[in-house]
Parts: sequence; C-alpha cells; structure tokens
Amino acid sequence: MEMKAHRNGDGATTTVTVGSTVIGAGAFTVMAGPCAVESEQQIMAAAEFIAEGGASILRGGAFKVRRSPYAFQGLREDGLKLLRKAGDAHHLPIVSEVIEPDDVELVSHYVDMLQVGASNMQNFVLLRAVGRSERPILLKRGPSATIDEWLMAAEYILNEGNPNVVLGEQGIRTFDTRTAATLDISSIPVVKQLSHLPVIIDPSHASGASAFVAPLALAGRAAGADGLMIEVHPSPEDALTEGPHQLDRDGYLALMHALGIVRLRADIDLVDREIVRLLARRVKRAVEIAHIKVEEGIPLRSPDREVDLLADVREEAERLGLDPKIVHRMFEEIIDYSRYEQRRALGVDDQDTG
Ligand code: PEP
Ligand code: MN
Repeated sequence: MEMKAHRNGDGATTTVTVGSTVIGAGAFTVMAGPCAVESEQQIMAAAEFIAEGGASILRGGAFKVRRSPYAFQGLREDGLKLLRKAGDAHHLPIVSEVIEPDDVELVSHYVDMLQVGASNMQNFVLLRAVGRSERPILLKRGPSATIDEWLMAAEYILNEGNPNVVLGEQGIRTFDTRTAATLDISSIPVVKQLSHLPVIIDPSHASGASAFVAPLALAGRAAGADGLMIEVHPSPEDALTEGPHQLDRDGYLALMHALGIVRLRADIDLVDREIVRLLARRVKRAVEIAHIKVEEGIPLRSPDREVDLLADVREEAERLGLDPKIVHRMFEEIIDYSRYEQRRALGVDDQDTG
C-alpha cells in the first residue's frame, strides 16, 4: 500500500511553504513567539525583537490546551487578530494551534500555518479536518507516541489531500522528571530516514526550563533538524502560561547568534522572496500605467520621470550606506524589466513604443 508521509524508496524531500518562508529547503527555520498571546502590548513587543533576531515565523497560542480548566485558556479569536497584526507589522508569517475541528476554518482565516499540538496528535477527527485545510500543518509529536504513531498521524493529514506537513519533535515521557520531557534527538535522523517531511524541534516544551533551551536547540540542529520552534516572551516572569521555559529578549538573541550562519541564510531567503514580491508589485503598477497611457494616447516612456526616480534611488542608497552607483545600475535593470513587462502586456514590440 502506498504511504504518503513515508518514503517510497526514493530520496525525495518535501519543502513546505509558510507565507514568505520555506521549511525543509536547507535553511534552518526558526519559529519563535510567546506560549500564549496575552495582550497587544506583549505580542507587539515580542514580534519586534523576534524580527530583529532573524526568526522567520512568529508563533503564539490563542486557543490553549491546559491541564487545568481554570488556567488561562487563551484570547481565542482576539488573540489571532493580535498575532496577525504583529506578524504583518514585521513581515513574519504566523503559526498558531487549533484544538477543535470546528475551529479549523476560523484559525485558518488568520494564520499561515496551523499547529496540531502534542496533546492532539492522535485526535484523528482534528487530523482529518486539518487535512482538508489549505494551510500547512505543524504536527507535534505526542509525549507518549512512538515515531511510527507520529508518522501515521501525519499520514491522516496527507491522506485528506494536504501534502504540507512539518513534524515537530518536543520530547517524550521517560522516567526522568528533571525536564518536562526528554527531547528525543534520535527521532530526527530516524524520521529523516523514514519520511520525506521536514522535521523541527521544540526544545522549549521539551525542557520546561529556559536554561536548557539553547543547548537542546543546537543539538537539534546538529542532528539534522530543519528548524526550531522556541517560546520567547518580553517578560517571562510575568507570563500567563509556561513562564519558566520562555526565553527573554537577551536569551533569544544569544541563541540566534549561537545558531550563526544557518539562521542568517534563512533570513536572507526571506529577504530575497520579499524583493521578488516587491518587484511583482512594481511590475503590476507599471503595467497599469501602460494601459492608462495607451488609453490617453500618452507616450509610454517618460525620460524625465526616469531621471527623477534614479536620483531618488541614489539618495536613498546613500542614506542607507549602500554604493549609489551600483544601486543606480541595478535600478536601470529593474526599469528595463518593467518596460519589457509593459510591452508584453500591451502585445507590442520595441519599435511601437520607442
Ligand atoms: C504550544 O506550542 O504552545 C503547545 C502547547 O504545544 P503542544 O500542545 O504541542 O505542547
Ligand atoms: Mn507553550
């Protein structure tokens, strides 16, 4: 029988796109954010230093699974709205947990990636529901689940037609009680052998204590994980949930620094995709202008405008400490390309537009 989450005799790997980020393409993707979205002030402050440190995805719980029904359960839809606002403010895609099948549509409306938490790993109704969603899924490993059970849970999602699953290792229950769970580092190479899906680690929930987060994060990377989910909070001592393992700004920035070149590459990938999106926006506007000019009988090229535009660009480059001559040259290329797309949209060749 053909399995979908499992390897089928080839070395193929799956990459999962989350907003502007790709997981599993070689870069080490960092998802960071507070355990729970608590207030606008809290999530905005967190997002600011998370973006500064170079993480690629913002996390935050809005629907929380808690051991006690009297504990803080999350801000629900209001939390999702705040998370979206914070993500948009810093161009970070967002991930948040969904805990009930009936909420998949609501949560999907706000987030770029849905999380199925460890406590729901074998909630097969929820797995089927997220399998019918268009959103990529982060599937955490349950603390008592074997690797095979975890992969079969992923199989439920893929079998409903959603191919975009990222596996998340966050520790298993062992006889030791010094950590919240024992991060199963060996699951990373085992999963890599058995499955084509990307796998990330969550050292925050595994360790239960902020002091253990960085060493486990680095171990996960060394073992071949595709990324990391870590919990960070502007002021962990005031956190409404799971304060002890959340990193503060300094702890987070130190970890990002320790991760070094891989996370810098992940940030460059993010920037490159942003540049392409901005280029697409520029071309779209140029084509709209071209149509208006044709309607109004105005010549397509405006040499004066090009001179002004290039002067503006040189000035901005200089202000940012870039080489204005080189930036000028790049923009001549961009303007050239916009003209090419204008001609293509109008179905004319060079001679007609001169
Ligand atoms: C979380 O990510 O906040 C969380 C509670 O995850 P899990 O349910 O997987 O422990
Ligand atoms: Mn948490």
